[in-house]
Order: sequence, then C-alpha cells, then structure tokens
Amino acid sequence: MPEQSKIWLSSPHMGGDEQKFVKEAFDTNWIAPLGPNVTSFENDIANYIDNNVHVAALSSGTGAIHLALEILGVGAGDEVLCQTFTFSASANPIKYLGANPVFIDSEKDTWNMSPVLLKKAIQDRIVKGKKPKAIVAVHLYGMPYKVNEISAVAKEFNIPVVEDSAEAFGSTHNGVQCGSFGAIGILSFNGNKIITTSGGGALVTKDEAIKNKAVFLATQAREDAPHYQHSVVGYNYRMSNVLAGIGRGQMLVLNDRVAARRANYQFYYDNLHTINEIEFLNEPDGFYSNRWLSCILLPSFEIREKVRLALLDENIESRPLWKPMHLQPVFNASASYMDGTSEDLFEKGLCLPSGSNLEQKDLQRVVDKIKSQFL
Ligand SMILES: *Cc1c(COP(=O)(O)O)cnc(C)c1O
Repeated sequence: MPEQSKIWLSSPHMGGDEQKFVKEAFDTNWIAPLGPNVTSFENDIANYIDNNVHVAALSSGTGAIHLALEILGVGAGDEVLCQTFTFSASANPIKYLGANPVFIDSEKDTWNMSPVLLKKAIQDRIVKGKKPKAIVAVHLYGMPYKVNEISAVAKEFNIPVVEDSAEAFGSTHNGVQCGSFGAIGILSFNGNKIITTSGGGALVTKDEAIKNKAVFLATQAREDAPHYQHSVVGYNYRMSNVLAGIGRGQMLVLNDRVAARRANYQFYYDNLHTINEIEFLNEPDGFYSNRWLSCILLPSFEIREKVRLALLDENIESRPLWKPMHLQPVFNASASYMDGTSEDLFEKGLCLPSGSNLEQKDLQRVVDKIKSQFL
C-alpha cells in the first residue's frame, strides 16, 4: 500500500492576500522593522480586539511577554506566578529578568490556572516574605481561563496579570475578545498559531503609555536625540514591515480560521464522543474557544500512547498535551502550588490534527483510526 500523505498537527494556512501586502513593502522599499504594514497590522489587531486597545507588533510572543513583565516592574529576585500547564515561552521570560517563577496548577473546567490555588499561593508567598510582582495566566489551546475569578484574585492583592493569549486570538469570554483582559495581553503569530507571520507577536494594552514604552524598549531604547542616546537597556524586538504584510493578509481570514478550527473540533466531537474512553473539554457558559488545537483525554497514559502510536503509524501527527513547567528539569528548583490536575492532563491528553487547512477526508482518516482502537 502506498504511504498515506502526512497529516500535520497545525500548519500555516495563507489566505491569498498576504503577498499583495508583502509586495507593497518591496515596492515602497519599506524593508525595515517599521513602516506602513506594521502600523496597519497594529490597527487591524486593535480594531479586531476592541477599539480601546493599543497594539505593539513585535518579533515574537516570547518577546512580548518579556517586555510586558519588564514594564510591569519585574526585576531580579522578584517572584512571578505562572500557570504551570503551558508552553515554556510563558515562563522563560521570567528568567530573562532574573526573577523566579512560582507555578500554579490548573482547574478542570478550562484546564487553565486555578483561581483557588492562585489565591493560596499569593497568601503563602506573602507569609514567606515576598509578594509576587505579576501573574502570567494562559488561555491554553484557545480556551479562555476563568477571567472573572482570576481577575478578582489579582485585584484583591493588586497584582497585575500578563494575559498570555498566544493560542487564543479570536477566542472570547462573555463576548469580549481575549487579549484585552490583563494589564497587558500578548499574542503570537508563530508558524503553528491560528494566524501567522511566520514568526511574530504583539503586545496589547488599554494604556497608551504602556504601548509607547513597549515600542521604545523594542527599538533599543533609543531616546529622542539626533545622535544615539540610551539611558536604559533596550531590545531589538520590533516586527519587520515585510512580515507585518503577511499579518495584514492573515487578519482578513482570522474569522474563517476560527470557524474552521471550531468545525474540526465539532467533527471530532460528533464522531468520537460516544466512545466511553474519550473525553472532550466543553466550553463553560460564556466561554468561546478558537479551538486552536482539538484535544481529547483518554483513560490512561498507556491508552493515550496506544492511540498516538496508531495515528503515527498512519502518518498522522498528534502530540501529548503540554508537559507542565514544574515537571521540566529547567524549572526543578521553582516553587509550585499543585493539586495533580496538570500532571493528570499531561498523562492522558492528546492533541489531534487541528489545522484550518485540513480536508474532510483528513479528518475522517483521523477519526477512523482512533475509532479502530476502541471497537
Ligand atoms: C506560542 C506561544 C508563546 C510564544 O510565542 P512565540 O511567538 O512563539 O514566541 C507563548 N505562550 C504560549 C502559550 C504559546 O503557545
């Protein structure tokens, strides 16, 4: 039998107009980390999220988190509370600043930061002598975290939230776009995200002064003078005007991408939810996920692996859920507040192919293979 074509977990999906905007950059010679595409892309993002936000387009989501934490005053020796169940880029920038992450486990309704453990951790850190400087909360796989509860705890202790929306562009909570809930929100346009500029990110804020500070730090902290004048350490984190052209094209199809990813999830749900061994993550009332990745839970690590390897055998890429940060060797010295939720998800969870460019026959192949493991 000829080998079946590869089905990817999540691959870039161009809309068609990207090259037009990239060509504009070439035609006008704006081949630089600023220019009309950057400004237009920022405006497109701001209009999509909420007219009250200001956006700085940057070279990565990781860079956006780094700047967000620095702007919120995180420095050497500080503690930052961070969701453990996430990709490492949520936590690494804490280390860039010489600060220490304190990891918080997830709750079962959204798989995101537990507001109960968050509060417990803050109280305990204060008793131990140090009030945390910031909270990094993540809308993982596109599912919004419990925005009301997390915001309430953050407000009670007056600690700002960095809202990691890298995976949740287009998701909403009570009709409000993700990216607009934290003191600072961040987005990613990496190649595997719901829309992409090949690599890129953005910082989102309601405070124009924060945006200006982010742009300042992202352009080597160059002060207003005819020569090069610097009073603080800066970074080279601005988005290229060429890549922002790709972003402008992608913004035209963002809603289509959300619809396509949600349709993938619905197809998996409709075809697999009657299998007793397979569990899905439903949206709580008021939560609207872009379903960046469709995930399932299986009864055990062994069965999860059996399904993953069976898919691999058919040239279908799937992946275990994120390995929690408190289990990563690089963070083994970090404090953590756990109840076992994220470790359980890591053992039993599997991300299924979720690209917006998957065809019906691809989805059917995935479903057929999974079904064959249980019937
Ligand atoms: C992708 C991602 C990031 C980082 O974004 P980059 O643009 O790849 O630097 C941060 N947090 C989460 C949860 C992500 O998935």
